[in-house]
Amino acid sequence: MTEIVDVAIIGAGPYGLSIAAHLSGAGVGYRIFGAPMHTWRTSMPEGMVLKSEGNASNLYDPRSELTLERYCADHGLPYAHTGFPIPLTTFIDYGIAFQRRFVPHLEDRQVSAVIPTSDGFDLQLQDGGLARARRLIVAAGIRAYEYIPPELENLPPGLASHSATHVKVAGFADRKVAIVGGGASAVNLAALLNKNAAEVTLIVRKDAIAYCGPPTRRTLLDRIKEPESGLGTGWRSWACCAMPGVFHAMPESFRLMVVRKHLPAAPGWTLQPQVDGIVPTILGARIARARESGGRVHLELGLRDGETKVLTVDHVIAGTGYHVDMRRLAFLGPDVLDRLDCVEHTPRLSRRFESSIPGLFFVGTAAANSFGPLMRFAYGANFAAKRLTQYLSHSPMRGSVRRDPVQSERWGKEGLAGTAD
Ligand SMILES: Cc1cc2nc3c(=O)[nH]c(=O)nc-3n(C[C@H](O)[C@H](O)[C@H](O)COP(=O)(O)OP(=O)(O)OC[C@H]3O[C@@H](n4cnc5c(N)ncnc54)[C@H](O)[C@@H]3O)c2cc1C
Repeated sequence: MTEIVDVAIIGAGPYGLSIAAHLSGAGVGYRIFGAPMHTWRTSMPEGMVLKSEGNASNLYDPRSELTLERYCADHGLPYAHTGFPIPLTTFIDYGIAFQRRFVPHLEDRQVSAVIPTSDGFDLQLQDGGLARARRLIVAAGIRAYEYIPPELENLPPGLASHSATHVKVAGFADRKVAIVGGGASAVNLAALLNKNAAEVTLIVRKDAIAYCGPPTRRTLLDRIKEPESGLGTGWRSWACCAMPGVFHAMPESFRLMVVRKHLPAAPGWTLQPQVDGIVPTILGARIARARESGGRVHLELGLRDGETKVLTVDHVIAGTGYHVDMRRLAFLGPDVLDRLDCVEHTPRLSRRFESSIPGLFFVGTAAANSFGPLMRFAYGANFAAKRLTQYLSHSPMRGSVRRDPVQSERWGKEGLAGTAD
């Protein structure tokens, strides 16, 4: 009989690892599954630099012993709180060092199914193993939610792909590539492919690419008018960082609106000189149709002046981001999904990150509609790790799933609660 642990975590990115480090510090028994920093190693292009500043690119241990700054100092790597773009490789190596130090018993195994039971959750592992936990934290990141616009969906796989599938970009040398999108992923890839001798065209729906501004010298007045935060400057970003708990208390329609509009995936300031005037860009363009002919892709673009234009390329990449949708998490079956209360296919969460299924928690981008845009960035892992650990360490489970009192109050009436004490 497989022993049951108090907590299981799915995912070993910045959120999963930070939560694990905090649970260890608080003496909570747990198991954590996933390949360390997998998204960063396998879904982001080589040569990328982080958009977040150094001081917002950490994993979090309870005593802040291994910050990115400390890691860089120990390894003789350049670092600045702001203004120095952190190379992807540095962040990955830092994440792995963090995992080895604080989460050495990480199990590099995939979870293939989650089955709710009377005393928690059974986790079926891809290698045939089974794990059991009273409470489950889903920290599965973004990868399951890749979005490809319907116009591109039916192209043969060799001719169209999502930006997340491109780590090595050298294979596109001398080929004509269209990249669709004006956000961080699309613009990043455009710069890197261009450097690697591909013939890139960027197709952007909006009339301009909205780059994040570079850090500048700021007067006291500037700082009062537009305070700095881990998500950039401005009162709105500051509030998102400082008060995710207050954000959670706001009406749902307001939260959804803010998450939709604030901090879209804008490209970092370092990309502007590599793209503006260098990578051919078609602004204000929508893909009306895409078809394959003679092994190439013909993209029919609707332009803002009502004209159309056909662009023929060897490959089209959708840099169109991610749409969070619980139905895309392959390890969640109907026995979970049917009981999961969602808005826009994302879980409604209590102020302790608990879903409508007692003992089932979601963090990271899946929690953004509850706690705000902060959850889309590694910076939010600090808040999530602290809040969850405080709750989980003070409400140890004894043989049955105990409900979050706030959840019980919230879900009890609707009869959504499953296992109860
Ligand atoms: C191109 C690009 C650039 C970005 N740049 C930045 C940046 O500069 N700064 C920033 O803060 N954010 C950036 N982001 C956002 C970034 O993805 C998130 O901040 C970060 O990954 C959140 O951490 P996470 O732990 O929630 O998710 P992830 O890092 O995605 O980790 C989730 C982990 O869960 C694992 N997992 C999923 N399913 C299973 C399963 N069934 N079993 C086991 N393991 C599983 C995955 O393999 C993955 O390793 C960027 C995103 C993209 C696409």
